[in-house]
Amino acid sequence: MFLQSLQLHDFRNYAELALDLSSAKTILVGDNAQGKSNLLEAVQLLATGRSSRALRDRELVTQGKEQSRVAARIERLGGTVELELILRAGKRRTVRLGGETQRTQAEALGYLNCVSFSSIDLDLVRGAPETRRDWLDGILLQLEPIYTSLLAQYLQVLHQRNALLRRTDLSSEALAEQLPLWDDLLTRHATPVMRRRHRLLLRLAPLAQHWHRAISGGRENFAIHYQPQIAFEREDAQSVQQALTELLAQKQALEVRRGTSLVGPHRDEVELTIDGIPARQFGSQGQQRTLVLALKLAELNLLEQVTGEVPLLLLDDVLAELDLHRQDQLLGAIGERVQTIVTTTHLGLFDSQWLHSATVLTIKQGQ
Ligand code: ATP
Ligand code: MG
Repeated sequence: MFLQSLQLHDFRNYAELALDLSSAKTILVGDNAQGKSNLLEAVQLLATGRSSRALRDRELVTQGKEQSRVAARIERLGGTVELELILRAGKRRTVRLGGETQRTQAEALGYLNCVSFSSIDLDLVRGAPETRRDWLDGILLQLEPIYTSLLAQYLQVLHQRNALLRRTDLSSEALAEQLPLWDDLLTRHATPVMRRRHRLLLRLAPLAQHWHRAISGGRENFAIHYQPQIAFEREDAQSVQQALTELLAQKQALEVRRGTSLVGPHRDEVELTIDGIPARQFGSQGQQRTLVLALKLAELNLLEQVTGEVPLLLLDDVLAELDLHRQDQLLGAIGERVQTIVTTTHLGLFDSQWLHSATVLTIKQGQ
C-alpha cells in the first residue's frame, strides 16, 4: 500500500497542509516542537482511529478552532481509496470513504495500515499491562475492523457493571438479584475479545522471535505469552465463557467489597521474557529496545500476511536511540518494499545510501 497524499486542516499545529508523497522513504527533519510527530499522529489516526498520545479529539483540534480535517489518498492493490476524518472537540467524528459518510468509524478502518515506533513504545516493555493490551488492540483494530465494536461493547458492559457494583443505595439482596444478568453480559462480550487477543499472540510470537534473534545476534532467548486470568487450554467460545463465569463466581464477594469488576480482558497481561526472566523488571535498556523493535517488525509482517498489503512504517525519532548494528538491522529490514516515514532532528544520523534514496522534508512551525 502507498500513502500518496495527506491533507491536514486545523490539526494540532497545522493550519493547512497538503503533502504529496512520491518516494517510498520520507524523512521529516526539523527542530523540536515543529510538528514532526503531529504529522505521524495524523497518519496513525487514519489507520487505527486512535492516537497513542491523545485521549480526546479536543487535544487534536488546533487550539481555538472548532474542528479538524485529516484526509489521505491511499493506493492499494484493489485501487485508490480516499479517506477523510472530521474531528470536533467533544463531539462525534465524521468519517468519509470515497466522499461517502460512513455510519461508524469502523467501516473506514483497514484501508490504511501502519506500524509506528517511537520512544513512547518502550512502554510496551516497561509500562503497565494496559500498554500491552492497547498494543494488541491496536493491531486487532487494523486486522479486523469488527474488533472496534467488539471492544467498545465489552467496555460499555464493564462500565455499567462497575457502576452497579459501586451503587451504595442497593441492598445486598437487590445487588445479588441484578448481578447474574451483568455477569452473563460481561462474560459473553469478554470472550470474543480474549479469543482474538490469544490468537493474535500465537501468530505474533514466532515472527517476533525471528526478529529478536536477528537483532540480538541470536544470543538471547525471547518469549512472549498471552496471560489472561483464565487458563486458555480450550479456546472455543463456550469454554472461555465458562471459565470466566467460574472465575467470576469465585471473585464475586471481593468484587462487591471493592466495588469494581475484577475479571475480564481488562485484566489481561502479556508476558515478555528474555531467557526466562521478565523483561519488564530485569531487561537492560538495550534489551528492552531490541524487544520493542522485534515486536514492531513482527506486527508489520503479520499485517502484511493477513492483508496482503505492506503496511506503512512510521518511525518517530528512534534511530538516535539505536546503536549502529541495530540501526542497520532496522533499515535493512525495511528494505525497498515498505513505505517509511521517519522523523529526525539531525539528518546526520542516516547513512548516505538511505539519505539519497529518500525525500527529505523540512518541517517548521506546522509547515
Ligand atoms: P520533537 O522533536 O520535540 O519531538 P515535534 O516536531 O515532533 O518535536 P510535535 O509533537 O509534532 O513536535 O509538535 C508539537 C507542537 O505542536 C508544539 O508546539 C505544540 O504546542 C503544538 N500543538 C500540539 N497540539 C496542538 C493543538 N491542539 N493546537 C495547536 N498546537 C498544538
Ligand atoms: Mg516528536
